[in-house]
Amino acid sequence: MKITKVESFVLHVPITPPITDAINAATHWGLTGVKVYTDEGFVGCGYTGTCAHGDDLIAATIDRYYAPELIGKDPFMVKELWDAMRYGKMHWVGRAGIAHMALAAVDIALWDIMAKAANKPLWQYLGGHKSKGIRAYNTNGGWLNWPKERLLKDVAEIVEQGFAGVKIKVGKPDPREDYDRVKAVRETIGEQPILMIDVNQQWNINTAMTWGKRLEEFDLFWLEEPLNPDDIAGHKKLADALNVPIALGEHVYTKYAFRDYMQQGAVEYCQADVTRVAGITEWLQVAGLAAAYDIPLCPHVGDMGQIHQHLAAATPGAIMLEYIPWIRHIFEEPATVISGMYRLPERPGASTDIVPRYYDEYRVR
Ligand SMILES: [Mg+2]
Repeated sequence: MKITKVESFVLHVPITPPITDAINAATHWGLTGVKVYTDEGFVGCGYTGTCAHGDDLIAATIDRYYAPELIGKDPFMVKELWDAMRYGKMHWVGRAGIAHMALAAVDIALWDIMAKAANKPLWQYLGGHKSKGIRAYNTNGGWLNWPKERLLKDVAEIVEQGFAGVKIKVGKPDPREDYDRVKAVRETIGEQPILMIDVNQQWNINTAMTWGKRLEEFDLFWLEEPLNPDDIAGHKKLADALNVPIALGEHVYTKYAFRDYMQQGAVEYCQADVTRVAGITEWLQVAGLAAAYDIPLCPHVGDMGQIHQHLAAATPGAIMLEYIPWIRHIFEEPATVISGMYRLPERPGASTDIVPRYYDEYRVR
């Protein structure tokens, strides 16, 4: 099989109503991606996820640096192609960030082609592990800009729908307001459902230490991204001092950075995101690393769950998957949760094919 054409795209899908966490405000979800065509008729689609900023730079990286490496090549040589792109012309200027997000889109498209050619959904092509589906928790009721009434209404509905639990955003200017919201959410959902909080890097070590300890009383399943993602030592201090496990990974770009976190005991739930770690090729290596450290995987859904449902279903250490339904309507086979479980995809590929109508409607580049 040979690659004949590579076509990048940028879609901006509206988020209604717009959301905020402690550091981001999003009106649209950006899908910067690529369609990879082959001489045997298989077309692979891959993408990365953004808050609709920087997409043009990611697309330019695909067009100028990665597409020329692919034409005429066999997509089944994905690991060789990944090496050629990762260690090629972009290596001098980008070993994370834009370069890795662009490479993620390309890599996912290649795995999509391979699974389609094998006539298997990706989770089976990778060697399935969870034939009964994957437990889901829901983040979409806990945004920082939700007034308290809406927050409580949404988390109650989520629990009623059967989700394993809810995640809510914290990181208000006054942590006492966070405390008040977490307390109210726990009272609303009761003792049983799991509850996570996500700081989105807003705290410093002292705030995290003080408020992490105070919030322990609400039986939190994890404390997510309390600090700057480059501060491994700070996360290690928190992991040692708090009775709430530390979760992170959505801003960690390489297996080497995950290794350092794991080696130092600074992460207790691994949230590796395929759209950041340069694709499925590297994600599988991070998953292997997590397995060796007995650290459970709960991927961050920068892909909105379309690809991660396959990866989680093929990974023994993946215990749960986040659910955010912002863009599910644009896919041919949307990620679907029923009674708190992801129903596993049946169509061949990585569930990345986009309904043509929405591809045209949301395309900005
Ligand atoms: Mg997060």
